Amino acid sequence: MAERDLESELDAFLAGHQAEFVDFRRDLHAHPEIGYHEHRTTRRIKLRLEAAGLRPMILPKGTGLIVDIGSGTDPVVALRADLDALPISDEKNVAYRSTYANACHACGHDVHTTILLGTGMFLARMAAAKALPGRVRLIFQPAEEVPCGALDVLAVGGIASVDRIFALHCDPRLDVGKIGTRVGAITAACDKITVRVTGPGGHTARPHLTADLVYALGKIITELPAALSRRVDPRSSLSLVWGRVNAGSAANAIPDDGIVEGTVRCLDDEAWHAAPDLLKALVDSVASAYGVVAELTYVRNVPPTVNEAISTAMVEAAADRVLGADAVVAAPQSLGGEDFAWYLESIPGALARLGTRKPGSGDDFDIHQPTFDVDERAIGVGIRLMAATALTAISGSASAPEPLPGVAHA
Ligand SMILES: [Zn+2]
Ligand SMILES: [Zn+2]
Repeated sequence: MAERDLESELDAFLAGHQAEFVDFRRDLHAHPEIGYHEHRTTRRIKLRLEAAGLRPMILPKGTGLIVDIGSGTDPVVALRADLDALPISDEKNVAYRSTYANACHACGHDVHTTILLGTGMFLARMAAAKALPGRVRLIFQPAEEVPCGALDVLAVGGIASVDRIFALHCDPRLDVGKIGTRVGAITAACDKITVRVTGPGGHTARPHLTADLVYALGKIITELPAALSRRVDPRSSLSLVWGRVNAGSAANAIPDDGIVEGTVRCLDDEAWHAAPDLLKALVDSVASAYGVVAELTYVRNVPPTVNEAISTAMVEAAADRVLGADAVVAAPQSLGGEDFAWYLESIPGALARLGTRKPGSGDDFDIHQPTFDVDERAIGVGIRLMAATALTAISGSASAPEPLPGVAHA
């Protein structure tokens, strides 16, 4: 499809459906469902997809769907949205505020879902007109916040034959119309660790006859972050921060157990994979020096989301094509987690930031806040971008940008 054709087709499509998409988003916003409870949301999407002539498959746990558009087998490009809300109260004063107690679309997943639906309807029209030169898979994933709905999609072979995958995430610090991109890690790994320390306990008068458990725990608390900073490449931004510590109940008794919990965040995939073994070795070495037994529990959450260069270039080319030459800006790295990362462990792809701030409004929203809201023009922007990205990826018409001299390998 020629460039002007795609733009005018998108213009015409959005002119006819803009109000419908805003209504759809507001309906989801008023009826937010948390991870693995997205039954109403799933039904609504299914009805719309079927009305567009598509045949969605509901995932085995009953929420979330996958649907293919077009019959080609090569290439297959996937677009992913997440469906779930957060278990917090909606504190906005708008007509479409949440009608459910303790559930709120405060991460913009209602917007992502609406964009993917609209993109699917547009691409379905193209496929019906025999104008889609490949296959596009829409993945409406449940349970991003819980996590990990992405693993359910992987478990059913949801990306087994997919060449590339793309997703958007609302960014309330970016003006509507802007797209934030970044090659490499755009979100961080975020895992949870617990260290439980046990020893014989005893009187504080005689620490030499027992094991001084609180002292040992203190050593673990201070030594682990310090040792990590010398054992791991600082460029991986691996950081361990403790959030809870507990031991003992009396001033003159050495307790027989204690616990410390924290999070491990990391921007580098290799360091993330190595972190559990390294932490275990460090904990064991500190504990053995003080005669206590330490048990490390490392709970994996999500890997870092590492955007692949060619896929990122495809998003940028698509944005240039349908949003204008100045739409793309550099996205900062976030230490937040995003389960889209699981797809990128298997296949190339990119997550882009979708600006949702009303320009000039001075709004200072953040995601996961009970007052979070978006400039709904972001829906049309997202549909344009996702449709154009899918078409760009199908035609394979973007190559990795030349690295800036002296920067790429600095
Ligand atoms: Zn979130
Ligand atoms: Zn989110």
